[in-house]
Amino acid sequence: MKEISCKLLVIGAGPGGYVCAIRAGQLGVDTVIVEAGKPGGTCLNVGCIPSKALIHAAEEYEKIRQMAEGRSPLGISLQVPPSLDLAATSAWKDGIVGRLNTGVSGLLRKARVKIVQGRAAFRDGKTVEVQTETGMQVIRAEMVVIATGSKPVELPFLPFGGPVISSTEALSLTALPKKLVVVGGGYIGLELGTAFAKLGSEVTVVEATDQVLPQYDGELVRPVQKRLQQLGLRVLTGAKAKGLAGQGEALLVETEDGKEHKLQADKILVTVGRRPNTDMSGLDGLDLDRSGPFLRIDDQCRTSMRGVFAIGDITGEPMLAHRAMAQGEMVAEIASGLKRGWDKRCIPAVCFTDPEILGAGLSSDEARRNGLEVRVGQFPFSANGRAMTMLAEDGFVRVVARADNNVVLGLQAVGAGVSELASAFALAIEMGARVEDIAATVHAHPTRGEALQEAALKALGHALHI
Ligand code: FAD
Repeated sequence: MKEISCKLLVIGAGPGGYVCAIRAGQLGVDTVIVEAGKPGGTCLNVGCIPSKALIHAAEEYEKIRQMAEGRSPLGISLQVPPSLDLAATSAWKDGIVGRLNTGVSGLLRKARVKIVQGRAAFRDGKTVEVQTETGMQVIRAEMVVIATGSKPVELPFLPFGGPVISSTEALSLTALPKKLVVVGGGYIGLELGTAFAKLGSEVTVVEATDQVLPQYDGELVRPVQKRLQQLGLRVLTGAKAKGLAGQGEALLVETEDGKEHKLQADKILVTVGRRPNTDMSGLDGLDLDRSGPFLRIDDQCRTSMRGVFAIGDITGEPMLAHRAMAQGEMVAEIASGLKRGWDKRCIPAVCFTDPEILGAGLSSDEARRNGLEVRVGQFPFSANGRAMTMLAEDGFVRVVARADNNVVLGLQAVGAGVSELASAFALAIEMGARVEDIAATVHAHPTRGEALQEAALKALGHALHI
């Protein structure tokens, strides 16, 4: 049995693990990373990147279809209806993923990180066994980082297989489902459901609570609901999936009034959340503290076991790639002996729905629940010139600040392309900006970002363009 030793062993090369390993390598820490699948993890292979590629292709297709059907307000029309080759779209998307896979491996090698391909299992807190293609390898490490991520939640009465698929299979379909039922109206279900509707599927979303995207306030979700309706998606709220009906070509759903419905479907996409990959062999034997299904960590991502860190989805919400990366970078620096912490307040979250929703920091309700008095300024895109020229008037930007000193507590937005404001939002919170700082920043004209400045001016009581 081959044995190696290192200072830092990272298990899992998703955005948390690979960023941790690269940074540790840059700092001269002798680092090994073990990955069972492909570099980049969920995010790069079956998450963030392929879903955004599909969403982009669907947006392009929908715009062209509008033109072919004489529905475009831009005065552009097409004489020939467009056609879709989903297999070609999928190949294009796979090409992007492949390029980025190669890029991540290259960055790890450049940082002198040793990559071991195989599935890791704990023997004890400092020893890991990896089943590689050529046999078992033992790795001894002074410090271990668990970055094994998460996987889709499977409903016991609707197991994956046949027509029932997870986001992973949805992202590799090469034929368009005529009828698609999405179970779960969270961000993954809505992003994919909207993309398939734009590509031409007949889509129904089944959501158990009384609103899609239940974690957001109704005002932020309203423009998304309106657009879902325009695109012809059927949304059933207060509805519970019960299982397959007939020969498995339909989903049985119970609505709030107690009635049962059979929804015909070629594919049933279940997106009811993700659960952490804590089933790694040997993990149960370690004295690790759990909080629900997640590994419990402190502010520096240390688990209850000395020398063992955990980062990313395995440590709980928000399960987002950039949170995993920020944790990974911090842990690498701690492992190299540097003093590090990070500010959890400024993890922006984006739903790449149509239109997009963006939030960073606290909403006004959250701030009030924390006993803070708030000052709020909100500016609509309907009063923003650039948004008008881009047919993107639906939505707004909102600034939430402390009433006593105007320090920005949170920022929210809904509108086309608002994801691009995420950096400005996070920067404002990270730097402890006051509303006056945003208001005094000269924003380029005409840009949709001007709505941020106007929202700040509104909070101060003197918006200029409304
Ligand atoms: P992961 O990316 O899950 O990586 C864990 C890695 O560990 C995997 O490669 C796995 O193979 C490996 N592994 C597991 N067990 C072992 C073992 N025993 N031995 C060796 N290797 C192992 N987040 C965003 O921020 N923005 C988005 O737009 C976004 N869109 C998403 C869309 C979809 C459809 C999905 C499913 C997710 C999306 N996410 C998005 C979430 C994001 O993908 C995750 O938050 C992120 O990937 C978590 O990173 P991680 O490093 O914790 O784990």
